[in-house]
Amino acid sequence: MLKRLNLRTIVAVSGAALVIAMASTMSIVVGARSERHFEREIGRALSETAFQMADKLDADMASRSRQVGVLAKISAVRDWSEAQKVVDELQLKDPTLAWIGTVNTDGIVTASSGRILLGANVSSRPVFQEGVKGHFIGDVHEAVLLAKLLPNPTGEPMKFVDVATPIQDSTGRTLGVLAAHFSWGWAREVQDRLLRPAQERLGLETFIVGADGTVLLGSANTIGRPLPVESLKLAQSKGSGWVIETWPDGQRYLTGYSRGAGQADYSGLGWTILARQPLAAAYENADDASREIFLWGVGFAALFSALAWFAAGLITRPLHAIADAAVRLRQGEPGVEIPQLRGAAEVADLSTSLRDLVASLDKTQNALSKMEDAAYHDTLTGLPNRRMFDEYLGKLVTDAPVPDFALLSLDLDKFKPINDSLGHHAGDIVLKQVSARMLSCLRSNDVVARIGGDEFVIIVHTEAGTSAPGLQEIAERLIKAVNEPMLLAGKAVRVGCSIGMADGMIPGETVQDMLDRADGALYEAKANGRNCAVAA
Ligand code: GH3
Ligand code: MG
Repeated sequence: MLKRLNLRTIVAVSGAALVIAMASTMSIVVGARSERHFEREIGRALSETAFQMADKLDADMASRSRQVGVLAKISAVRDWSEAQKVVDELQLKDPTLAWIGTVNTDGIVTASSGRILLGANVSSRPVFQEGVKGHFIGDVHEAVLLAKLLPNPTGEPMKFVDVATPIQDSTGRTLGVLAAHFSWGWAREVQDRLLRPAQERLGLETFIVGADGTVLLGSANTIGRPLPVESLKLAQSKGSGWVIETWPDGQRYLTGYSRGAGQADYSGLGWTILARQPLAAAYENADDASREIFLWGVGFAALFSALAWFAAGLITRPLHAIADAAVRLRQGEPGVEIPQLRGAAEVADLSTSLRDLVASLDKTQNALSKMEDAAYHDTLTGLPNRRMFDEYLGKLVTDAPVPDFALLSLDLDKFKPINDSLGHHAGDIVLKQVSARMLSCLRSNDVVARIGGDEFVIIVHTEAGTSAPGLQEIAERLIKAVNEPMLLAGKAVRVGCSIGMADGMIPGETVQDMLDRADGALYEAKANGRNCAVAA
């Protein structure tokens, strides 16, 4: 059998379930929203990092290009011995300047920092061939000749970017070339400087990708290789931005990109900067947020169900009190009342309604019993009336196979004159007194009924063996009791009565026959001079 759940359990459990469901939904929604949020935030930051790096590299390259361009115009570099001093001085001041030198139109190095390659023929090198023609900026490359001559403490392949520009006299005739090789280590320094403040950003990495699509600077296994990522293409078309993409290592990354656009007088080398962070790292914060919301939800659910349990108890306690009272009322316990409750309006209403209902049921019951009483009793004396007498007698005859009773028909003597002389009210008092006196002469199971104005019928239960003399005695006792004087309006008044007796039913006789017989005997008693009893 299913046990019915009580209100407290239902409210507490469903409340807790609701809160948990809400918290789960919220944590999913907030999780998803904060994932989008963190994607956007981190994506923007990555795009910014890429942009700043591109900008810084461009700014550095532009300033170098300008520096070499201006230097080529000063007269000192046209005199090779003066030029030697200038280049030595310059290299001392700028650590990123790996080599600077002047070359004459034949391609012979005429002055050089640290006198490296001095007198050597560099006519076949791009820096000379392009520099003779005009201002030239060379992309990152390994310099075969220089690498052997320069100190290399790390042993890594040495790379450089070049700037070369023609040296001309005042007439515009080309006298040679001023060429500079800048160490590529500079780019790594720029990268380090930019990334240092962002060290707490888990797994952040940057890449410099050349115009040809190969990696110039990045993680060891990517350098010199092409990078097949979406962000590179996006950088070509959009310049800067961010994207979520899968890298060749199979992992998903948030990638910020920025394409170096050069500066006013420097068109740039077409480098693209990529800054990436693993997507999982970005989502870590979002996961924290949704987990936290869920835990709060579980906490609230516990709190809510405890409160709901308590609140439901407050609601059900008065209901229990009402139910208890109702059960006791039904069991007929005396003095039980439905309690009048305050508190919740509905509970108060319920208790008031039930109280009213019980009160109106009580009234109805009282009215019904009064009506029943009135229908069966004489209002003046309180004795059974004719109706009750007939029903009782009928029942007596049908219930008992051998009816065992006698009937006395009794009428007051000369009652009318009492009414006439002392008033109807005095007559009423006589009727009441006579009734009480008759009852006092009889056994409790005998019945006295008032069936007319001053007419009474008495049912006397006769045990087996009780015979006429017994009944005669009863009749005489009755007459004697009625005859006792009564005080009416200060006067002693006496009243008599005549009795006709039918002692037991004669076989074949009906109740009515028996009553008629008693009436006949009463008539005889009146005729015999009244205040006596006559047997039928
Ligand atoms: P009798 O000896 O022949 O019986 O004479 P009676 O005067 O008693 O006359 P009867 O029995 O015929 O009349 C009964 C009178 O009882 C008639 C009526 O005025 C009076 N009576 C009937 N009902 C009431 C009642 O309820 N109260 C009072 N006070 N008198 C009543
Ligand atoms: Mg009479």
